[in-house]
Amino acid sequence: MLYLDHAATTAVRREVLEAMWPYLTGEFGNPSSHHDVGQAAARGLAEARATVAEAFGVRSSEVIFTSGGTEADNLAIKGIVLASPRGRHVVTTAIEHPAVLESCDYLARVHGAQVTVLPVDRDGVVDPDAFAAALRPDTALATVMTANNEIGTVEPVARLGELARAAGVTFHTDAVQAAGWMSVRLGDLGADAVSISGHKLGAPKGIGALAVRSGVPLEAVVHGGGQERGRRSGTENVAGAVGLAAAVRLASAQVADAGRVAALRDRFIETVLATVPGALLTGSATSRLPGHASFCFPGTSGESVLLGLEARGITCSSGSACAAGSDEPSDVLLAIGVPPEVAQTAVRFTFGADITAEELDRAAAELRVAVESVRSLG
Ligand code: PLP
Repeated sequence: MLYLDHAATTAVRREVLEAMWPYLTGEFGNPSSHHDVGQAAARGLAEARATVAEAFGVRSSEVIFTSGGTEADNLAIKGIVLASPRGRHVVTTAIEHPAVLESCDYLARVHGAQVTVLPVDRDGVVDPDAFAAALRPDTALATVMTANNEIGTVEPVARLGELARAAGVTFHTDAVQAAGWMSVRLGDLGADAVSISGHKLGAPKGIGALAVRSGVPLEAVVHGGGQERGRRSGTENVAGAVGLAAAVRLASAQVADAGRVAALRDRFIETVLATVPGALLTGSATSRLPGHASFCFPGTSGESVLLGLEARGITCSSGSACAAGSDEPSDVLLAIGVPPEVAQTAVRFTFGADITAEELDRAAAELRVAVESVRSLG
């Protein structure tokens, strides 16, 4: 089985599991406990925090461990907007993950926030001029993803961050898909707050992190014993944090290798466009995650192509894992102008740095057969 659904989730890497093991067994303590077992766990957590802080280019005190990307986005958006002295206006985009859009929607429904949802162009790119024009004196937060999960488009976040700073607006970016492919340093992303998730990076599900620059007021969303400096209560997932740190360390090597993977991706995209009649690339051809290729195949159904591929040993997805199984066309594809009937034909291939040219050649060949077979039945 060739697994080409890394944007949905990844396997836990051996080095990550080995780093975690001691904290699931001998050093299993609660880091808030004063005895030796607790303090050993507290040291592991502190080391993990320092490693993750280094990856974000921030101080340890600016890292908050969460249960994943969804919680990191919720905390950033609700926490920053509810604590902002500026007002309750939020700027975001039409192609954000539901963790972002639903958090904005919650703020609008429950806290009377006003939300400006910016459109994107046919490549899925946000226009910096439209972004700047949307910022207002009462804008508490602008949040734009670093890279999109469904179409792989990488947004000009450094530029957007600059514009936000010039307007005095706090800028958050969801780097859940970008992490492992590009720097997640707040300085490089022009951001005041950045979310990442472990399970997209070879760490387990159930761990993520949010970096928030000190000085940005943040209201807690989860209340309790005051862990994470009162910003996220709950006994810390020490083994998860240690695993995330190990994954982040491995990811920096992968970032260095991103150019090689991007070349393999380009060759795969060219092959698919040349060999599968009517194939359409979705998302940007140039500003794109290295391990991401997504298409529509008009005249098919994405789900049938997926089943055909699965029967031929290729696992991929129709778009986001969240939308899988839903009959509704993807909002992201509609936002880039794909007609609803074409949006139903989407297939996404996402891979890690260990991908080979031979594997992608095989995927392209099987894809051609699967698409032909669905069309011949239709
Ligand atoms: N943001 C983006 C862009 C994602 O792709 C995902 C997961 O698919 C999330 C947030 C949510 O992350 P998690 O699954 O860790 O909650």
